[in-house]
Amino acid sequence: MARINIKTPIYFKCQDGCSNCCKVSGGFVVVRDVEVEPIAKHLKIPADDFIKNFTRKEGKYTCLVDHAGEDCIFLEEDKCVIYPVRPIQCKTFPFWPQNLKTEKRWILIENECPGIGTGKAFSKEEIEAIFKGKPVNSEK
Ligand code: SF4
Repeated sequence: MARINIKTPIYFKCQDGCSNCCKVSGGFVVVRDVEVEPIAKHLKIPADDFIKNFTRKEGKYTCLVDHAGEDCIFLEEDKCVIYPVRPIQCKTFPFWPQNLKTEKRWILIENECPGIGTGKAFSKEEIEAIFKGKPVNSEK
């Protein structure tokens, strides 16, 4: 299990009107095989079309394409158009193991995400469950 080196509980609630984490330049959103079909279905297109038009390879990973290397392709007017079926990577932000590994990294994430420090208290155990893929469950 990845270590949490940040004091818990951590308060978090995703904020209305914010989409900062969908606009991180240089990052990428991994789409797992099991996520392809639900996203394609949500978009009402065949899975092959989704793969061809909305994903790219990043090493061994299949990732969403983005607008000019920045905003996510599915961010429209600051709203995620695949929100109910978004990849687990999106559903678990900001509680990624690499974000909670060091204070320095967490401070960067806090500066980017106005939802941190607000809303529900997440215990160490809840964060560890999120590391295993449990969605954060902080709906806007
Ligand atoms: S998770 Fe944080 S950065 Fe992302 S949209 Fe919500 S408040 Fe903004």
